[in-house]
Amino acid sequence: MVITSYTKDELIDLFVNRGFERYRADQILKWIYKKGITDFETMTDLPKDFRKYLRENFKINALNFIKRVPSSDSEKFLFKTEDGYIVETVLIKERDHFTLCVSSQIGCAIGCTFCATAIDGLKRNLRTEEIIDQLLQVQKISGVKVRNVVFMGMGEPLANYENVRKAVEILTMPWGFDLSKRRVTISTSGIIHQLRRMAYDPVMSEVNLAVSINAPSQGKRETLMPICKTNKLSQLMNLLKEYPLKPYRRITLEYVLIKGINDSPEDALELVRLIGRHKKRFKVNIIPYNPYPTLPYRRPEPENIINLQRILWENGISCFIRFSKGQKVFGACGQLRAEYEGVKV
Ligand code: SF4
Repeated sequence: MVITSYTKDELIDLFVNRGFERYRADQILKWIYKKGITDFETMTDLPKDFRKYLRENFKINALNFIKRVPSSDSEKFLFKTEDGYIVETVLIKERDHFTLCVSSQIGCAIGCTFCATAIDGLKRNLRTEEIIDQLLQVQKISGVKVRNVVFMGMGEPLANYENVRKAVEILTMPWGFDLSKRRVTISTSGIIHQLRRMAYDPVMSEVNLAVSINAPSQGKRETLMPICKTNKLSQLMNLLKEYPLKPYRRITLEYVLIKGINDSPEDALELVRLIGRHKKRFKVNIIPYNPYPTLPYRRPEPENIINLQRILWENGISCFIRFSKGQKVFGACGQLRAEYEGVKV
């Protein structure tokens, strides 16, 4: 059993049933999440018989670390699951903090036509402990403290709801990593029934929401994101306009900008109309597309990127371009894969 698959209450139940004190759960959680210790023998305030029980019944890491691939403003970490799949995690250096982009699935079933991860479809969901271990190991290996976690790696987090929910709980609870709820973001392609569920979920509704919108009309969005055929853009926007937001929060609309597809001034104006009078509820992140060799899409011209941003600002919509730091990472969840082409593992 991997110990990071359990919440505090679950660990208390396990330990008490085996005759150990309930406060042992607090002790062990502190060692793992606060001190980053991943060896039971180093947990010196635990009695020997308890350490023996832990050693014989649990392990702490769920993934095998393979390698790190540094670049100027981000660093990729590759892990292997027990059943041999590669998990990609990206550490991004921002001006004064670090953000970790975690994967929630092996592959993805959503099938966005611009996305490299979609090519092989979904292999399987990542388990809670495999999501948590990405942060645990990256912090240990790199020696940095991560401030923000974004579910923008491989996969659609809302298609792996239960595992992601439990991971969010471990990330944000005081007994876990204790990250600020404002600093954890779920990025989704917009699965409407799961968004409804998230809206009233006491754990999931606390964290930030980002939705990949990518096109301002039903027709264009359908060609980029087949999920839009069953999750209509109008229904998605209606839901987002009523989504119960915490004070001072906004929903991020991710917009992967692709040359000749969705980068015209008309597209920008259509996006303005789509947002309508709810300008304060949303902010738009423009993400210039990173081409992938076997996909037909191209990166937009710099003037089109700036122009689209200008039109949104002129119409009162906050709009940011993910130009430099983390640009490759945020180029859409699945584009991570393009970054790792040629990396032998
Ligand atoms: S962009 Fe995201 S949701 Fe779409 S196929 Fe790729 S990984 Fe899945």
